Amino acid sequence: MIGTIQLKTGRLILRRHVIEDADFLYRRFGSDEKMYEYSGWNPYATPDMAKETVQNFIKSYDDDAFFGWAIEKDGAIIGTIGAYDHDPQEDSIEVGTSIDRDYWGRGYATEALEAVLRYLTEDNGISNVKAWCASDNLGSAKAMERCGMVLEDVEKDALSIGNKQFDKYNYVYRKEKAMDRKSIKYAVVIQCDHTLNRCSGFACSEAFFGRSAGFTGYEDGTKYLTMSCGGCCGAGVAGRLEHFETKLRKLTDIQKSEVAVHLATCVVTDNRHHDRCPYVDYIKEIIRKNGFENIVEGTYQSQASRDAYAILHRKAFQRTCFFQKWGYTYL
Ligand code: SF4
Ligand code: SF4
Repeated sequence: MIGTIQLKTGRLILRRHVIEDADFLYRRFGSDEKMYEYSGWNPYATPDMAKETVQNFIKSYDDDAFFGWAIEKDGAIIGTIGAYDHDPQEDSIEVGTSIDRDYWGRGYATEALEAVLRYLTEDNGISNVKAWCASDNLGSAKAMERCGMVLEDVEKDALSIGNKQFDKYNYVYRKEKAMDRKSIKYAVVIQCDHTLNRCSGFACSEAFFGRSAGFTGYEDGTKYLTMSCGGCCGAGVAGRLEHFETKLRKLTDIQKSEVAVHLATCVVTDNRHHDRCPYVDYIKEIIRKNGFENIVEGTYQSQASRDAYAILHRKAFQRTCFFQKWGYTYL
């Protein structure tokens, strides 16, 4: 891994911390309870704590698996972003960001997060970047979703901050295994058996034949096949893939390396569409054991799911307005 190097975005510079940052972090983050309202964690509560925190950041730059940046705009610090607790077994890391309240609502969190997600996955080779926010922290949730992070699960009442209780929203950003899409001759879609009770798979097929969403970049002659997972816990995938493999071998000259196995959107992400399947890792293991290495998460996001998402955010907006009486503001 490379560790913390300077990154540039359209409007921002992400740079290593220097000890002078401590004063800003105490004044703007440590002394403003809005800044830690949804984390309950204030490492800048006093000038000494702020100084110690920044000193620890600076010491950690020797570690290639530590990532901690000050976010600078026009020469002035406006926030922080970092990634910590790299788990080599899971190949994951957790990311967190804070933006000065004067700069909320202008897309700076999204811009910094996008750059860091790209840097962690593409340049440092980390497969999964995780983040969480409290259920009422709509600004953070929106920033993560704009960057392509997916809401993986919701832990009910998992956060006790002050005298308030929040659900914990856990997000993840996954790096897709590098796959040459032009070499793919067969796209196999595994659909959630529960969802198929009320879905013909029409939207997945439209996305495939329109070469949109998860099917972007496939050549014109690419074949298409759908199969259900067979019901919980997805063990039925093994038999179906074995049958597919036999037919592939006997009737075509297509190699397994030229097959992409998609887990349909209803399997991998809620997208206000369906909950993420709790057996995704198990199903992926089955796919790999059958020798198919090209696994793609997602196929399509329906208009219905987008509508549902919009309604949710309209409701969320009403809730925000209500809270604004007490100074609640988006990130
Ligand atoms: S992703 Fe949507 S369209 Fe495709 S099978 Fe699942 S529910 Fe149906
Ligand atoms: S194993 Fe997953 S994808 Fe299959 S029916 Fe159950 S929830 Fe749906």
